Amino acid sequence: MDACVFCRIVEGKEPAQVVYQDEEVFAFKDIHPRAPVHILIIPKRHIASAKDLSQEDATLMGRLLLAANRVAEQLGLQGYRELIQVGREGGQTVFHLHLHLLGGPVPVW
Ligand code: 5GP
Ligand code: ZN
Repeated sequence: MDACVFCRIVEGKEPAQVVYQDEEVFAFKDIHPRAPVHILIIPKRHIASAKDLSQEDATLMGRLLLAANRVAEQLGLQGYRELIQVGREGGQTVFHLHLHLLGGPVPVW
């Protein structure tokens, strides 16, 4: 999906600092980090938002969480925050589902 910046990153058409990828998941550094470590973990397949998930995506969401664990371990994080913003009112600005992984340490909530 060429209109989507995260799809373009997955396809290598847009630069990004990639930290992890497998068959279904892609992870890269956020361009405007809100914490010393700020990684975005996304499905390679375009899903606009968490509210668009279907029953068939249950395993995929598990894979996103497992990828987050791997990235956190890879980066030596002891504790971290995982965040998904859903819809404009939830703070979502990029409409390709993504899990924020924040650490090192995280800002006070
Ligand atoms: P949201 O506000 O949708 O939950 O998060 C979108 C995130 O994507 C923001 O933290 C923003 O800094 C990041 N972002 C937006 N465009 C790009 C980009 O082109 N490259 C990277 N690496 N991050 C981006
Ligand atoms: Zn996309």
